[in-house]
Amino acid sequence: MRSDQVRLNNGITIPLLGMGTYSFENHSKSTEHAVQLALKTGYRHFDTARIYGSEAALGNALSDAISTGVVQREDVFVTSKLWGSHHHDPVSALQKTLTIMGMEYIDMYLVHWPVRLKSWVCDPIPKEDEFEQLCLDVTWAGMEKCLDMGLCRGIGVSNFSSKKLQNLLDFASVPPAVNQVEMHPMWRQNKLRDFCSDHNIHVSAYSPLGGPGNLWGSTAVIESPLIKSMALKHRATPAQIALSWGLLKGASVIVKSFNQERLKENKGALDLKLEYDEILEIDSKMKEMKIMRGEVFVNQATSPYKTIQELWDYEI
Ligand code: NAP
Repeated sequence: MRSDQVRLNNGITIPLLGMGTYSFENHSKSTEHAVQLALKTGYRHFDTARIYGSEAALGNALSDAISTGVVQREDVFVTSKLWGSHHHDPVSALQKTLTIMGMEYIDMYLVHWPVRLKSWVCDPIPKEDEFEQLCLDVTWAGMEKCLDMGLCRGIGVSNFSSKKLQNLLDFASVPPAVNQVEMHPMWRQNKLRDFCSDHNIHVSAYSPLGGPGNLWGSTAVIESPLIKSMALKHRATPAQIALSWGLLKGASVIVKSFNQERLKENKGALDLKLEYDEILEIDSKMKEMKIMRGEVFVNQATSPYKTIQELWDYEI
């Protein structure tokens, strides 16, 4: 196996460097162009979700690249995610995703959030009366069916606490292969990473730079004096230090850039090795700060989560 990949609990391999395709502007031509640049730069792992609106652009770019021989289908790893309003029927949701993407299968299908919404909801920010009780057994049975039908090569979750993972493991016939969560030097996920390591669930890190430039994001990670000083020492950039930190923790990193230079820069993190002492310094000196808190899924009306603490099972 190549050193830039890891093997998941279902036997398939996942490239450690992934390209995120969420952008607030959601401009399909820019997304398509960025994916083409990423493919040229050597990215082979792409992350999308129905709710991002980027499935079609990603699918187009990949189909072009495959038909022109730039890559083979089996050399790319594609993840998409089940939105809350599709928990009642993951099979139909994934079939729709495949139609949108023009693909026969994807490599990984994730439950996007432990949140179930009424089936007609399509806004990324649900209204207070649009939630239903999470019936994880029903949702997961649908995810397992997707796998059985060959619509995807692996199934997993996203934004799950260790408590919710344990609950899922208690009844799942197929354990989740991946938990995709926020993770960067300022949100280190120690407890969750230990749990996942004990249960052979791979952690994939989203917003590995802290999402600078995003509406909800922060520049705190890449502007941290400690990260900047390590960057100077390694003749690297702060983004490369942050990504290298995530990689050394064993996570795959899903980093979004639509810019050619930054795509290259971020890929350079694969060649950077922080010293053990530097990792310890980051872990002990940087304050913890969760950026994507999921406030939109918490309310006093129909959400099963009445507080942020309940959403994350007090792991925040
Ligand atoms: P991120 O990758 O940490 O940050 C992306 C932002 O940083 C963009 O504004 C990008 O701008 C900028 N950037 C990229 N490389 C840079 C560099 N080397 N130096 C300085 N700035 C740089 O955060 P994210 O976009 O929130 O997360 C990445 C991906 O994770 C998303 O696209 C999505 O696929 C996934 N995600 C999943 C979930 C979930 O719930 N599962 C939640 C959030 C995100 P430019 O494009 O201009 O370079």
